[in-house]
Amino acid sequence: MTAALLDRLGPEVVLTGQAAEGFVRDERGLFDGVPAAVVLPRCTEEVALAVRTCAENRIPVVPQGGGTGLVGGAVPVGRGEQVLLNLRRMNRIRAVYAEDFALVAEAGCVLAEVRAAAERADRLFPLSLASEGSCQLGGNLATNAGGLNVVRYGNTRDLVLGLEVVLADGTVWNGLQRLRKDNTGYDVKQLFVGSEGTLGVITAASLRLFPLPRRTSTALLGLVDIKSLVPLLELARRCFDDRVSSLELLPAAGLDLLVRHVPGSRYPMGQRHPWYLLVEAGSSTVRGDLDAVMDAFLTTALDSGHAADAVLAVDRADADRLWALRENLSEAQKRAGGTVKHDVSVPLSEVGEFVIAGTRLVHERLPGAQVIALGHVGDGNVHFNVLPPPGHSARDTHLWHRVNEFVHELVARFGGSISAEHGIGLLKREAHAEHADPVRLRLQAAVKQALDPLQIMNPGKVLSQDVTGGKTR
Ligand code: ZN
Repeated sequence: MTAALLDRLGPEVVLTGQAAEGFVRDERGLFDGVPAAVVLPRCTEEVALAVRTCAENRIPVVPQGGGTGLVGGAVPVGRGEQVLLNLRRMNRIRAVYAEDFALVAEAGCVLAEVRAAAERADRLFPLSLASEGSCQLGGNLATNAGGLNVVRYGNTRDLVLGLEVVLADGTVWNGLQRLRKDNTGYDVKQLFVGSEGTLGVITAASLRLFPLPRRTSTALLGLVDIKSLVPLLELARRCFDDRVSSLELLPAAGLDLLVRHVPGSRYPMGQRHPWYLLVEAGSSTVRGDLDAVMDAFLTTALDSGHAADAVLAVDRADADRLWALRENLSEAQKRAGGTVKHDVSVPLSEVGEFVIAGTRLVHERLPGAQVIALGHVGDGNVHFNVLPPPGHSARDTHLWHRVNEFVHELVARFGGSISAEHGIGLLKREAHAEHADPVRLRLQAAVKQALDPLQIMNPGKVLSQDVTGGKTR
């Protein structure tokens, strides 16, 4: 099935057999499909030629970025039935427009390199994730990645001014404009953002930049009780105005795993508190009053009794040590044998109540399990993870689905989302079909049908093919 691809693009671009196998990477080890071939295009024209060839031969195409996704959105399904389209060779920063506060980069750029290119122009590209050293811009766009700075700058969706996309029939859409305002009909670029490669292949993007913060201030608060979380989030927003960029929850249960499993880790305060809130704010003016605002915030937090203790970072190295506690929480869970994951969001005012109700539910339904709830609480986004009881494994898909089911039911009762930032992929496809509003699901299926009538773009991801009217696998 790959002869046509090899014929048109050559062995430099199309890898088959053993050479192709190394490209299958599933961060959580849950999926093990094998591709028929891997295509490594060097330019948009080669992407277009590859997709057109696949469309003509009805070969399904799975676009792939850095492979750090968490829902199986970029893995092939089946054995030798689909082609992986890996964008890593398209890694040029095409242009930086400092005065426009914009930058154009190709899909295969590693996120950290996009951020560095902006910084060299004295600008900030604010998207920041734990995996920024290896995840790629195309994947960030295709999954509408969230990360650590959403509270101030928004999701990836909010950072896009324009896109270049290869459509499912191989047509190239050049939409790389850098306008701040454009109300000429439907905003089609936003269809591709968050589509997980099911509508087309994003090959480049025009991105929104911001003034580079000159000063940042970082602190960690120890909370008496999870009930203090919402009042503290509200206080932070009021004190810092729009300058607060991160509001991250850390659980003591997570730090316990960290101290036990990751060498060199220590508790951040003399006393162990049940919950911690990491707060970071930034200002682009040199002589700001950021330190004074942080002081006022910490004083009020402590005086109100919502925070029991606080540490203020004295310099960047100190701040990095506080951030390491947050960033190493995934590794700590991995070393503890893995957790059943949930990436959920609820209204901001409910985030504390959700953690309380969820913890109670887990203890009821799965005695001996431990809740590790962490994440971007400033966005109402909780990574509500569950460490199974001794004798059970987080790799057990039955257990995984059972826990998912009751947690997702609770999320629905809170009016929340079962996928706040990781997307749907293969992992949450059934849960999405079950929990999504039926009208919304119908609209999503209509968009898929309109943009990919042959069902060759990453089929079976996000929407199952019986939802989209294609063949059922
Ligand atoms: Zn996250």
